[in-house]
Amino acid sequence: MGGEFSQNSTALKRWASKARTNFTIDMIHFVAAVLKDIFEHGRDYPWGRPDKCFKCGHYKVWGHGFVPRLFDGFSSPLLIKCYRCPNCCCVITLRPVSHFSRIQSSIETIRSRLQHRLEKGRWGPFFTLFTSRYRHWLSNLRRRIKAYLTEKWSQGEMAAFDWFITQGQVPVSVI
Ligand SMILES: [Zn+2]
Repeated sequence: MGGEFSQNSTALKRWASKARTNFTIDMIHFVAAVLKDIFEHGRDYPWGRPDKCFKCGHYKVWGHGFVPRLFDGFSSPLLIKCYRCPNCCCVITLRPVSHFSRIQSSIETIRSRLQHRLEKGRWGPFFTLFTSRYRHWLSNLRRRIKAYLTEKWSQGEMAAFDWFITQGQVPVSVI
């Protein structure tokens, strides 16, 4: 019994170290970057290196290759730069500040299309391809307003969208 326990315990430790790695891989650092330039320059795009590790404050992070990420308007993934901290081992993935993490459309596009929908009551003819996506985002925004700002919020949905951004939240993500 004791042996089994220690076996399990080793397995748990192994899992924990993997889980820790999994938890740390998703650190995102937003930077000013133009997608068209990233597309054109590929691996030569001058991303700039973060001054320090954002997790542990270590003075230096090392280049850690690239990850492919899809963005609207580009038929193939763009190569996004990663860095790794030699001290705490976290991986920092850069992200153009024009885009929320995990969302291919730019913040500006999302905002203007939601605004159009709220003002005109329809999505407009050229949204057909992505309408379900936007509908999904609008319902996420409304759910978020209800949860965080409650029924008392009277400044409108777009003001709420902007407020969530100032709070570091993604206004259209699932809560
Ligand atoms: Zn670190």
